[in-house]
Amino acid sequence: MSSKLKITLWITAMMLIMAVIVVAFVIVVENASIADDPTDALVGIVMENSTKIEYSDGTFSWNKLDFYSRGVYCSFFTADGTELVGAFPTSERFVLDFKSGVIRSVTIGEDDFYVFDLFVDLETGGVWVRGIMSAANNSTVISSIITLTYTLLPILLVFSIGGGWLIAYQAFTPVELIADSADSIGSGSDLSARINLTRGPTEMKRIAGSFDRMFARLEESFDSEKKFTSAASHELRTPITVILAECDRAKRKCETREDFLDSIEAIEDQGERMSVLVHQLLSLSRLQYRASGYQMRVSPLSEFIDACVDEFVPKERRSIALARNISPNIYAKYNPELLTRVIENLLQNAYKYGRDNGHIFISLEEDDEGGCAVLSVKDDGIGIAEEDIDNIWRRFWQADPSRGISAGAGLGLALVKEIIDMHGGRVFVRSVLGEGSEFIVTLPNS
Ligand code: ADP
Repeated sequence: MSSKLKITLWITAMMLIMAVIVVAFVIVVENASIADDPTDALVGIVMENSTKIEYSDGTFSWNKLDFYSRGVYCSFFTADGTELVGAFPTSERFVLDFKSGVIRSVTIGEDDFYVFDLFVDLETGGVWVRGIMSAANNSTVISSIITLTYTLLPILLVFSIGGGWLIAYQAFTPVELIADSADSIGSGSDLSARINLTRGPTEMKRIAGSFDRMFARLEESFDSEKKFTSAASHELRTPITVILAECDRAKRKCETREDFLDSIEAIEDQGERMSVLVHQLLSLSRLQYRASGYQMRVSPLSEFIDACVDEFVPKERRSIALARNISPNIYAKYNPELLTRVIENLLQNAYKYGRDNGHIFISLEEDDEGGCAVLSVKDDGIGIAEEDIDNIWRRFWQADPSRGISAGAGLGLALVKEIIDMHGGRVFVRSVLGEGSEFIVTLPNS
């Protein structure tokens, strides 16, 4: 049974129970009002007052008398009809002969009243006790309540059941939409499906919004996974094609040892290229796989950078001078294994894209506010065109992929950026084509 139906049934059941209770209550009140003849009260109060009248020393005492009780007004008159004391329902007195022991209906103005008189015979004369009560009294009020109950109750029932159903419908329709979208994304048939909930309860709009953002991230990550796989296979296809072609050529055309060695060298180049690519692919995937598993600690950075530069061996032997200016006592929060890869990649690039007899300058200092370590790797090599500056961080992107094996696979800087992002730092480049590039890395020290 759906929650929508359950809520509607629950509201219906509760409303029906309440309606039954109210109707039962009204029936009880109705019966009670029929059983309780209002004139009983009139007669009762007059009789009661008649027993309380006292007469001594030529005066009446009315201290104990009830002039008004339960809707009955009581007044007292002498035997000849002169008013002594009492309470009246109207400001104007009405003239009515006294008639002992009889209930009479009287109309005064537009209102109906019951009147009951009783003559009390005292030793020195008599006293009339008159009780007056409104004929409209309880019965009219009760009948109005009953009429209202019987007309309003069904309307209230219809509204509350209808309203309950509407609220349940509005609350649960988005849940079905969310489930449908999740199903279609889960089955992989439509990764672009979104809930796009614009109407409905606020909480549901929030949940739908969160799901939409999650679906967008999933789509993005599926997309980049797809692009990554296709780019990786594309990158591997080129060296494999070259290796196969070279093998074929060697078998058919190489006659001398030199010819063979040429072919083997070409194959070795491509093998190395594949090895770099596979190594970087592995590094990237390990990085993503272990993202939260890398420990970051605040540690001395100056000595660490010095050691990295000391141990650095360029892949290509070129006459490029490496100078450094590492400020002492600089700390940062980093993972040494990951940071080694960053420095290695930036230095290898500076060598690769540096110019012969050029310079590489590596520096480390604290930023002005003291919250970050700032590492710079600067070369005076080929530089990067302004329009390419944003592209260099993309996976497999290379300004000139035909530079041969040493040009790498276009994954190095993607790796650098990923690592620095994991550290909560920033990496950016300042470069002028033909003049050189400076890669700047900032690492927080807490
Ligand atoms: P690659 O393996 O091609 O070096 P990277 O991701 O390390 O891949 O770099 C991407 C591209 O950025 C390179 O192909 C190159 O065009 C450019 N690049 C990187 N570093 C430098 C640099 N120091 N000077 C000039 N261009 C650079």
